[in-house]
Amino acid sequence: MEHPHPPRDLRLLPKAHLHLHFTGSMRPATLLELAGEHGVHLPDALTGGEPPKLRATDERGWFRFQRLYDAARSCLRTPEDIRRLVREAAEEDVRDGSGWLEIQVDPTSYAPRLGGLIPALEIILDAVDSASRETGLGMRVIVAANRMKHPLDARTLARLAVRYAGSGVIGFGLSNDERRGMARDFDRAFAIAREGGLLAAPHGGELTGPASVRDCLDDLGAARIGHGVRAAEDPRLLRRLAERGVTCEVCPASNVALGVYEKPEQVPLRTLYEAGVPMALGADDPLLFGSRLAAQYEIARTHHGFTDAELAELARQSIRGSAAPPDVQAKLLAGVDEWLEC
Ligand SMILES: [Zn+2]
Repeated sequence: MEHPHPPRDLRLLPKAHLHLHFTGSMRPATLLELAGEHGVHLPDALTGGEPPKLRATDERGWFRFQRLYDAARSCLRTPEDIRRLVREAAEEDVRDGSGWLEIQVDPTSYAPRLGGLIPALEIILDAVDSASRETGLGMRVIVAANRMKHPLDARTLARLAVRYAGSGVIGFGLSNDERRGMARDFDRAFAIAREGGLLAAPHGGELTGPASVRDCLDDLGAARIGHGVRAAEDPRLLRRLAERGVTCEVCPASNVALGVYEKPEQVPLRTLYEAGVPMALGADDPLLFGSRLAAQYEIARTHHGFTDAELAELARQSIRGSAAPPDVQAKLLAGVDEWLEC
């Protein structure tokens, strides 16, 4: 007779974290401390000790989400603040079993206080390098352009990102409200990034449907999709993602917090998994959504019935979808096998 194995600790499962935003990675306690230090008055929604109630499926809700995000961002003022944020993000990730973290940042937001775009990115890359050495976590940066800004700004950012390819930047992203503008408007920026050896990882298929994922593939040459969950509405698109091995950076807690889906069980994890679309579960903005990396795997286990073998496969997909060098991937993949064997 077979005895069921007690559920394994998901924090011990080695994984790669491919969808985490810079400010959004902040510990709530750190936000309060920095706000105090810099005399920033935070909106009540950020000081209640509980994740704020958000509903971003309409433009007002999204605007509110962005306002909270901006308030949190305004607490990051000095190079020391940046170093602290990155170090703590790395510590939290290590605690959750991450062996590789790709953190996403638009340096434009920090440029005014840090002496310009180039110093801002250099301070961030330096912080990432130190945090990586202190914690042992492999860490790289995805420079993300903002969809609400002019496509020329995105090109400037892409050129800057390419200059730092090989010095910590591995990808180029596009974030903010998918309902604004066309992915196509950013095609030149993405061409610059890809030609410069960066991985294209724009957001798509979160607030808008499968068409936005197709646009990311066709117009931006996306190798990965930030979210991409709405691809579940189109079987042909799912096949295309699966055949091309395009990893979707799926963030279940974020989807529920922002009202993309009402309940965790509605996030189409099973649909993507069964279609063979590789996924990398991510936390997106733990500061605003109240949960970190391991919790996303908990959702797959609790609400979608993923077995430990399937959870191990999800972890493998996250590792294979990462920009981690082959030796790092091999080590993490071996760790996944060990986790499953014990
Ligand atoms: Zn995101």
